[in-house]
Amino acid sequence: MNAPIDTSTYVITPPGIPTLPVEGSDKLFPIHRIYCVGRNYAEHAIEMGHDPNKEPPFFFQKNPDNVITDGTFPYPDKSSDVHYELEMLVAIGKGGVNIPVESALDHVWGYGVGLDMTRRDLQGEAKKLGRPWEVGKAFEASAPCSALVPASAIGHPAAGKVWLNVNGTQRQVGDLNQMIWKVPEMISYLSGLFELRPGDVIMSGTPAGVGAIVRGDVMEGGVDGVGTLTVKVV
Ligand code: MN
Repeated sequence: MNAPIDTSTYVITPPGIPTLPVEGSDKLFPIHRIYCVGRNYAEHAIEMGHDPNKEPPFFFQKNPDNVITDGTFPYPDKSSDVHYELEMLVAIGKGGVNIPVESALDHVWGYGVGLDMTRRDLQGEAKKLGRPWEVGKAFEASAPCSALVPASAIGHPAAGKVWLNVNGTQRQVGDLNQMIWKVPEMISYLSGLFELRPGDVIMSGTPAGVGAIVRGDVMEGGVDGVGTLTVKVV
């Protein structure tokens, strides 16, 4: 969803501001950047062939306008192995650099549920060749997301089931308390690498059970205490 902007001051018509809806509100959350944490649940690190011991977290980005909120996911071109990764979204309301772990949650505006959709075949090829991941991770509509809920309403969830069903069969299940890097730690670490700004969204990593979808599948997932998300592959 893009918010309208004043077009009269630009030489071409600029794209609108990517946004996320807010549960129970007509107002929108404007997206500045999307950061994604890799391998943040031990069992998922193992299923992807990595040692889950606590190494420093690593991040990649999606494009803000990769977000889609209409309940569909158009199956992308150039891949025959597109995977779901259900994740909790952390929406930043207050920016900063070198944010201490102790005060990191003060920077969170709210939470949501998102899918880090991945062209796994293209990502695998990029990994093998030492190339960037964008073709696997940052393609059109690669981030189907729910509405956000403010932390003022739900607090800061540190435990709760993270799950995904495909066509009614459970595929992913984990718990927020299994995150290797907790939300305050990822905010602190990320803010040492980048200046966090209001509007940044962090996809906090996925539990084990990732797998492929095909057109016609319905993905339904959620984070207990945060919300749910239902997305049809079209
Ligand atoms: Mn992910």
